[in-house]
Amino acid sequence: MIRARCYFDHNASSPLRPEAREAMMRAFDLVGNASSVHAEGRAARAAIEDAREQVARLCGADTAQVVFTSGGTESNVLALAPEWLSKLPGYAPEKARLFTSAIEHPSAYQGGGFDAQQITRLPVTADGVVDLDAAKELISRGDGAPFMVSVMSANNETGAIQPTAELGEIVRAAGGILHCDAVQSVGRVPMDVSALGADLVSVSAHKFGGPKGAGALIIVRDELHNPVPVMHGGGQERGRRAGTENFPAIAGFGAAAEAVQRDLQTGDGIGAVQPLRDRLERELKRIAADAWIAAENASRLPNTTCVAVPGLHGETLVIAMDLEGIAVSAGSACSSGKVERSHVLDAMGLDNETASGAIRISLGWSSTDAEVERFLSAWQAIYERRKHESAAA
Ligand code: PLP
Repeated sequence: MIRARCYFDHNASSPLRPEAREAMMRAFDLVGNASSVHAEGRAARAAIEDAREQVARLCGADTAQVVFTSGGTESNVLALAPEWLSKLPGYAPEKARLFTSAIEHPSAYQGGGFDAQQITRLPVTADGVVDLDAAKELISRGDGAPFMVSVMSANNETGAIQPTAELGEIVRAAGGILHCDAVQSVGRVPMDVSALGADLVSVSAHKFGGPKGAGALIIVRDELHNPVPVMHGGGQERGRRAGTENFPAIAGFGAAAEAVQRDLQTGDGIGAVQPLRDRLERELKRIAADAWIAAENASRLPNTTCVAVPGLHGETLVIAMDLEGIAVSAGSACSSGKVERSHVLDAMGLDNETASGAIRISLGWSSTDAEVERFLSAWQAIYERRKHESAAA
């Protein structure tokens, strides 16, 4: 009998939700171009605008603030442009600065349109949370010229939730712009972009059951409404993102947003994930009392556990789990598929051995009790084997 796979890698990508698939199938039959004025064009336009409302509702934003992009990476690069600062008083190109945390996703970590010498890293605590005192101190060293700060709402490897609201106050008081990469928290926890404290917010559909290749940048602050486009050409997305819209992907994004919002309200699907994750974590620590859990003392996303056990190598563990039919990831396999030292665990000051043992278990809307059970029996078997092997050595 072929056993179904058990998928615990939602932070890399979530399976497509049926609601998203249905909306996409309907959209594939729309023949028009959303810029055309005829009935076919208007039908395509309607699919995009419906999705814009669904995404705006999930994020607590206005529809006019939502710019569709090809995903979180593009949204981050669109956000991280020194030109945004030119809209603020006191702008001087040679003084433009970007502050990003040391645990950002590579698409924000690399700084978008900012040069390396314009970037200052904000340090994090041992729990993987941006150190607010250090951030305040570094930001206050500026000379009053406008600057940008980019900090994620929750980390993709550890799930640690970042203090964006407090940071927003610090940034605004000092005359800057705060961009927040909310790719891992939208669709996992209730979201209200105004409470997040950010001026620009990145979202990606495939982290919560929408299709890959769809995302949005939400422009919260009014005076920033005209970014410098990454994609130049036609006037789509009110001139902010040229190119004929991929409306099947956008429609799937919208449908997933609506479905996930319902789940968060009713406590189903992703809304029921925390008890599953907490049980998994409790039991895995009961089996392996020497397990270390990243950001254990911080507020974390309800779906993420990053764990390491002395003597167990992350890659070996991922392969052993895969052979048991269970998908987890080692380090941050978000983009490359290859396992490199995690810059996130490095920034948290973790020793080499623990860092190389870390695996990330991330649950999502499709996770079940039975899957947690399967994970735990595989974990127990692998852990026991390791104990016997080290006793025999
Ligand atoms: N930001 C974070 C925090 C992520 O985890 C990812 C994951 O890949 C991205 C951005 C990139 O999003 P996308 O895959 O939609 O380009």
